[in-house]
Amino acid sequence: MLNDPRSHGLWERTAPPAPATGPLGSDMDADVAVVGAGFTGLSAALHLAEAGLRVAVLEAAEIGFGGSGRNVGLVNAGMWVMPDDLPGVLGEVHGERLLDLLGDAPRQVFELIERHRIACESERSGTLHCGVGRKGAEELAERARQWRERGAPVELLDAVEARRLTGSPAYSCALLDRRAGTVQPLAYVRGLGHAAMAAGAEVFTQSPVTGITSAGAGWRLATPGGSVTAEWVVVATNAYTRTPWPQIREEIVHLPYFNIATRPLSSNLARSILPERQGCWDTKEVLSSFRLDRAGRLIIGSVGALDGTGRSIHRRWARRSLKRLFPQLGEIEFEAEWYGQIGMTADSLPKFHRLDEKVVSFSGYNGRGIAPGTVFGRTLARHVLGELTEDDLPLPVTVPEPQRLRRLREGYYRLGSQIAHLSSRI
Ligand SMILES: Cc1cc2nc3c(=O)[nH]c(=O)nc-3n(C[C@H](O)[C@H](O)[C@H](O)COP(=O)(O)OP(=O)(O)OC[C@H]3O[C@@H](n4cnc5c(N)ncnc54)[C@H](O)[C@@H]3O)c2cc1C
Repeated sequence: MLNDPRSHGLWERTAPPAPATGPLGSDMDADVAVVGAGFTGLSAALHLAEAGLRVAVLEAAEIGFGGSGRNVGLVNAGMWVMPDDLPGVLGEVHGERLLDLLGDAPRQVFELIERHRIACESERSGTLHCGVGRKGAEELAERARQWRERGAPVELLDAVEARRLTGSPAYSCALLDRRAGTVQPLAYVRGLGHAAMAAGAEVFTQSPVTGITSAGAGWRLATPGGSVTAEWVVVATNAYTRTPWPQIREEIVHLPYFNIATRPLSSNLARSILPERQGCWDTKEVLSSFRLDRAGRLIIGSVGALDGTGRSIHRRWARRSLKRLFPQLGEIEFEAEWYGQIGMTADSLPKFHRLDEKVVSFSGYNGRGIAPGTVFGRTLARHVLGELTEDDLPLPVTVPEPQRLRRLREGYYRLGSQIAHLSSRI
């Protein structure tokens, strides 16, 4: 992707090609202009085009250039916030609505993958939230209790079962969520691109929106090579937002997150590590994640940017961690490494904004954007189509609020993750 092996790493090497696209080269009209070709924008475009609307997607770089092509690939149900706390934070109506929507979101992702035959290494065997120490065990027990009361198919596994499913002796327990799973994220987002274009959406890459002005009953979006005039604008730029909506970026703190992939494991090793292929992450404050890809590469990730001194510190941490988590691994050879920016909001919840009349956006997924991005994109489409009013949406309309000391906190995450990984044993 744009000749940077550290932006999309393994995913770039193993994803099927993106659909053929190019820059916008003229002035055109559409019913809806979608800005950003990630999960949110392309899901919105797909559902709008399927409903018969003329859709133009404008992407500054390439399909999946943002978080959608760089992430771990965990298709999660729910958010970081505990289920029972959501109604308190968002109000009863929105809290319950968001829980229902996001609890069902992985099912919608896998259904979409099946319907459009998207080849993206999808695995529907669940995810494991792995407990570290007593604090982690308590958190998971409470999370399991709250989800089970809501009828969700989650199981709290003891240390023996956690070891059987992860292949690691490091965890005291694990929360198995059978609603969830994994995908090859760049392959999934490219598949959404193919599906949206097959439904009639036009996708223009290398076409950053540089300005927006009102035009009759709608909006004119300017790019370097041409413009789109449309009644509705869906802004789906999230943590990779550029102009002309700086307020979305200002509401988000960038948390860098990296992934490092081994060579494919031998079949013996593969039998002892993640035999059922769940995607995993842990309860540590500086959390880490691990999963397999279809070819059996083990991918470990954590907070941090692979640039400057971070690169060697995080690489050494990954090697040490893998050895401690999976003593059976022996010598470890890495094949790919990459990182990106997660968009964190002040209350760890996503936001719905009406940026202007008929200019709408969802953003701020806090590292949970595959399933939420997909269903929020569909929700935006249903809102534009008049099927859902603002009162029916899963989140209240809010005005973007700049986060205080944003740059300082971003610096702290970069440096803090290096310090944590220098001193941590796993
Ligand atoms: C390293 C990492 C690991 C993660 N792990 C997971 C995970 O395991 N599970 C999970 O659910 N989520 C995870 N996430 C979060 C998830 O990837 C994101 O929440 C999700 O991809 C957001 O999708 P999106 O479509 O809203 O935005 P993006 O995919 O970021 O797309 C936004 C697009 O907008 C474009 N853009 C920006 N400004 C303009 C402009 N002015 N004009 C035109 N285009 C513009 C950008 O180029 C970009 O392509 C992770 C994120 C990262 C970075």
